[in-house]
Amino acid sequence: MTLSFSLNNPALWRTQCFVGGLWCDSTTQKTFSVINPANGNLIAQVADAGVSDVQNAISLAVVAQQHWATQTAEARSRILRRWFELVMIHQDDLARILTLEQGKPFAEARAEIAYGASYIEWFSEEAKRIQGDVIAPPSHDKRIITLKQPVGVVAAITPWNFPNAMLARKIAPALAAGCAIVAKPAAETPLSALALAYLADEAGVPAGVINILCGSDAAAIGREFTDHPQVRKLSFTGSTMVGKRLIAQCASSVKKITLELGGNAPFLVFDDADVNAAVEGAIAAKFRNAGQTCVCANRFYIQRDIYDEFVEKFIAASSQFVIGDGFDSATTIGPLISPNAIKKVEALVADAVEKGARIAYQSPIRDVSASGYFYPLQVLTHVPPSAQLVHEEIFAPVAVLFPFDTEADVIRLANASEFGLAAYCYTRDAARQWRIPELLEVGMVGMNTGLISNAMAPFGGIKQSGWGREGSRYGIEDYLNLKYICLSVV
Ligand code: ADP
Repeated sequence: MTLSFSLNNPALWRTQCFVGGLWCDSTTQKTFSVINPANGNLIAQVADAGVSDVQNAISLAVVAQQHWATQTAEARSRILRRWFELVMIHQDDLARILTLEQGKPFAEARAEIAYGASYIEWFSEEAKRIQGDVIAPPSHDKRIITLKQPVGVVAAITPWNFPNAMLARKIAPALAAGCAIVAKPAAETPLSALALAYLADEAGVPAGVINILCGSDAAAIGREFTDHPQVRKLSFTGSTMVGKRLIAQCASSVKKITLELGGNAPFLVFDDADVNAAVEGAIAAKFRNAGQTCVCANRFYIQRDIYDEFVEKFIAASSQFVIGDGFDSATTIGPLISPNAIKKVEALVADAVEKGARIAYQSPIRDVSASGYFYPLQVLTHVPPSAQLVHEEIFAPVAVLFPFDTEADVIRLANASEFGLAAYCYTRDAARQWRIPELLEVGMVGMNTGLISNAMAPFGGIKQSGWGREGSRYGIEDYLNLKYICLSVV
């Protein structure tokens, strides 16, 4: 069965930028094309913001933020709550827009909308829990008090793999804290961001508090964000390469930065694990969003005496996937985002095969448009450690399975990466369940589970995977300044 594309609420279809509470074209009148990755068809022409649009949005955000920060936490919370409710009411429409521009299966798109909304709900509650301290003073004539205050105007840059959720989890804590935001979604997937902003407006977010600038010149927009003195903070989710560039650019104005960058997640399976559960977790951790998530398992390490059993069961489970158009209800893996994404994975697999890797399984691709950006699911074994895909994020439905011998060996292998975002481990040994997470150099560990991300938990990495955390009670801290008042009581 194929879902035809139509929206229950056509007003969610926005192709202009959202600035100062108004929908507007770019001052240059330029537009850029958004393409459906399942068939290469043009979906929309979207307003292509230039530098003067960015400057205008920041000026309006500065004014709006001053008023927003004076609202009570309760008032901010209520508006965020209303926004959450509207997102859930429009879940199907938002998921349709998401599948159309991003390609993921409709069921996954619906799940992303609920996941993104859960951050708005969470931070609508956290808005009421911004608390300072009264600290024991060094002498009787003093009192030490701390306040938490919004940082001001925040700039956000988000990627195409979770076009709704990555934005929701930046806007929600920013607004909860009393900040205003100017956001640039990825040029591949601007429509989800614009629809989200439409609902925020409907929910009563004041004009100028949320601004969405879509644009094809990411470097120019990013430069304006980082150089502008009135932008107090940058929050970025994307590649480590661009993240490093943005850190350098933020140095000139010493901006606060939150970075969610690339990962290279190891997935460890010990011989005391429940192998069937480990396969299930491995499949969930690898193939969600066609392998295009930063917490996707990138390297599977299986203890040698269960390696053959694991490989066989993993291939059996992998062969159940159906690759196709995300709107086809049978589809469980959609297309990749772009022709470049295909070229990148083809080069990584070719390099591995050239160095001795074997393609132990490759899925068929059925009934899809020849112009879509489809790539088969592949399972690779006998991969040498020198293969590039051991060291880089694969970002495609390609699983790489290695045997290992001892716990010490696998910890060394797992940590032999410049990235440190997520890791997964399957073991039934209780002591090992404590020991392994302490030894892994990452920000997040899934122990006997392949799914780790939720609004209550701190999401983020160490090493070259980033700075700061999103979600949880920690996620709002990056949007707040701590101020200390020394009060004389004589
Ligand atoms: P990906 O490989 O996932 O596309 P990128 O880091 O290239 O990761 O993209 C993530 C986001 O960063 C997107 O919104 C993209 O437009 C933006 N971006 C890309 N290059 C730059 C840049 N030089 N400055 C600012 N933003 C950028």
